[in-house]
Amino acid sequence: MDFEFSNEEKKVLKDVKAFIKSESTPELLAESHQLGHIYGGQEGRKFIRKFAVNGWLTPNWPEEYGGIGSSAVLNFGIREEMAWAGVPIIFVAAHMAGPTIMHFASEEMKNEWLLPIARGDVEFALGYTEPQAGSDLSSIDIQAVDNGDNFIINGQKSFNTHSHVADYHWLAAITDPDAKRYHGMSMMIVDLKSPGIDIRPMITMAGWQTNEVFYNDVTVPKKNLVGEVNQGFYYLMSALDFERMYPLAAYQRFLSMAVDFSKETNVGGQPLSKNPLVRQKLAQLRIEIEANKLLYYRLAYMIDKGEIPNYESSMQKLYATETAQHITNTVMDVLGMFGGLKEGSKRAVLSGIMEQAYRSSVVETIYAGTSEVQRNIIALRGLKLPTK
Ligand SMILES: Cc1cc2nc3c(=O)[nH]c(=O)nc-3n(C[C@H](O)[C@H](O)[C@H](O)COP(=O)(O)OP(=O)(O)OC[C@H]3O[C@@H](n4cnc5c(N)ncnc54)[C@H](O)[C@@H]3O)c2cc1C
Repeated sequence: MDFEFSNEEKKVLKDVKAFIKSESTPELLAESHQLGHIYGGQEGRKFIRKFAVNGWLTPNWPEEYGGIGSSAVLNFGIREEMAWAGVPIIFVAAHMAGPTIMHFASEEMKNEWLLPIARGDVEFALGYTEPQAGSDLSSIDIQAVDNGDNFIINGQKSFNTHSHVADYHWLAAITDPDAKRYHGMSMMIVDLKSPGIDIRPMITMAGWQTNEVFYNDVTVPKKNLVGEVNQGFYYLMSALDFERMYPLAAYQRFLSMAVDFSKETNVGGQPLSKNPLVRQKLAQLRIEIEANKLLYYRLAYMIDKGEIPNYESSMQKLYATETAQHITNTVMDVLGMFGGLKEGSKRAVLSGIMEQAYRSSVVETIYAGTSEVQRNIIALRGLKLPTK
């Protein structure tokens, strides 16, 4: 495996860095922070539309679909730069639905959707989870009934994060209720402004919003069906594999803040950075960040070979998100009692950033599949252990 960037890729990364530095405004960073770095807010759209003109949102896509025909390794490098800078980094359309459409959808669907996605003109929301179906998505219940040229949809989704800012729902629905498990589900793209859709907020402990989405006799044209009818469970699983690719640079930045803090803060007459315990803890995190990089770029390497990483994505998602929690826990230890004060508090350290990051890191091991679910996938497909 060779994860080294070529000279051309290094030049793109330099340009990306310069672009982010010159174009990211305080308004963009505030909006991105408030939305949990998901794409779809007004400032984010302004920024990404300019950014994506260069093909940087989907650099490994062919030029006809809005990419620059480069590598997934470059794509992953760009995502790390974006995560470090605090601009939007969670793109359902460009990074989850788009690659799935590329692999499984008809030419018509590719021609209709991929270019607007690559340009950042449209964003999707993930429509998988329901109140009774989270880890086990084969038990979803929302029904899409065949009605000639359309489906008529009724039911409910929950925890659908982008829905209040996205344009379309990337929806999993049951099209054959009598089929065997896994065989009656279809994926479709639904305009979130369709009559009969009601979106209601659910606020997470991280402070940002996810949603319940209710469908009441919603009409969806059949041309919005992804791939083949009743094959949706397999497309959904692939889209999840693409989702479970997690740039850790935002948390790496927190570690670098803690390192600076330890150098600048005296406790008991000497800088914290001389305290052996603090040094041990920070050094441990440096190892974990490095190990995560190998797992992360390995996914890009596999994509560049034309493969869809599977249990390998689960390994990286699990390791990255548990490392994220380890980082926020450790940094909180290093900051001491004042680290728990909120942004805006008089005595908050590092402007209260870590208090929110600490809460935010909790949800990372839940969405896109919990750590337990990732371990099950690794046991089953990575280690070939029998099903329970
Ligand atoms: C912040 C946030 C954002 C989200 N965004 C989206 C989104 O945009 N779109 C979307 O569709 N969904 C989204 N989700 C939903 C998320 O994917 C689910 O919450 C997650 O998959 C877990 O499902 P559940 O909440 O129903 O928990 P359950 O499936 O009920 O699990 C409860 C507990 O049981 C454990 N468990 C379940 N099954 C097993 C098993 N077989 N073996 C071992 N342990 C098991 C779980 O690990 C968990 O600890 C989001 C969730 C959160 C918290």
